[in-house]
Amino acid sequence: MKKFSTLLCAVLISASFIYAQHSLPPLNYAYTALQPYIDAQTMEIHYSKHHQAYVNNLNKALEGSRAAALPIDELLIAAERRGADIRNNGGGHYNHTLFWEILSPTPKKAPTGALSTAINETFTSLDSLKKAMNAGAAARFGSGWVWLYVNPAKKLAVCTSPNQDNPIMDASGEHRGIPVLGIDVWEHAYYLQYQNRRNDYLQYVWEVIDWAAVEKKYEAALKSPLLKLIEKDTWTELKQFHTVMAQTFHPMEDGNLTPIKTRSAEMVAKAKAVKTGNTPASFRTPEINKAIDELVMGSEALHKLVTSKAKDNKIVDSLTKLHDTFHVIQGLCSDDH
Ligand code: MN
Repeated sequence: MKKFSTLLCAVLISASFIYAQHSLPPLNYAYTALQPYIDAQTMEIHYSKHHQAYVNNLNKALEGSRAAALPIDELLIAAERRGADIRNNGGGHYNHTLFWEILSPTPKKAPTGALSTAINETFTSLDSLKKAMNAGAAARFGSGWVWLYVNPAKKLAVCTSPNQDNPIMDASGEHRGIPVLGIDVWEHAYYLQYQNRRNDYLQYVWEVIDWAAVEKKYEAALKSPLLKLIEKDTWTELKQFHTVMAQTFHPMEDGNLTPIKTRSAEMVAKAKAVKTGNTPASFRTPEINKAIDELVMGSEALHKLVTSKAKDNKIVDSLTKLHDTFHVIQGLCSDDH
């Protein structure tokens, strides 16, 4: 029995490893299906060569990493911090998956319902939205994408990105959110048919963009917990506190109190910065404010213990309590209130 459960464990572990691999999603139409707007050869090379290469290189970059278990969108929140291989290939995989999904040989030609209302509210009309996206895409130097995305305030916005970046990524600065429509403006997306005429491609690609698919992405984005994760990632002061906490708490767990004894004043300063800093809009709640006050008081108490040369076990207790308080804030930010 023991042998059997060991074997079962081994099978499950290797199975979960296989499932953690990213893979090329199915294309729901033939390579020829988007003609005359996108030619078959472009579709075939774009999907079976370019996209496949992003998937392969992403899996290679993730090999042996705990990040391999993350869904692709969560992985990309920290794309810049994870390095160029994951940023470029993870972005390439996510972006192309979205692109294939919003293209269709039988597209819904215009949005209706909530998405249509939101587009009119932000851009006055569908036509002005298309113009804004085409102007951005035409002006994007070199390779990149143009995006319609939902920001953490749940509003629509447009931006462009270089290479395979997208608004989910930390690399995207103030343009953070969940993409609902993206147009690939790499030359590999249009050069065989349109050569250097990017504007012609940008004019005709709208003929195969399926607004039914974009509507679905919009509804999903508004409800997605990912939006809160992205918003939390824009909270610089909390991230900086987290860094000091991680660099003092984990050594303490291994019995090394030197980091906290030398950095307790810095911890107080970072906690105060969280309190006075720029808290993202949806985290300005009474519960989070209260926990931030506790974070400041807790770090001051810890600093007092360190400077008065209190016994190690008191410092350990105090840092452990402060770590708990920090995780209360993290938890409140992640819950979908
Ligand atoms: Mn592409």
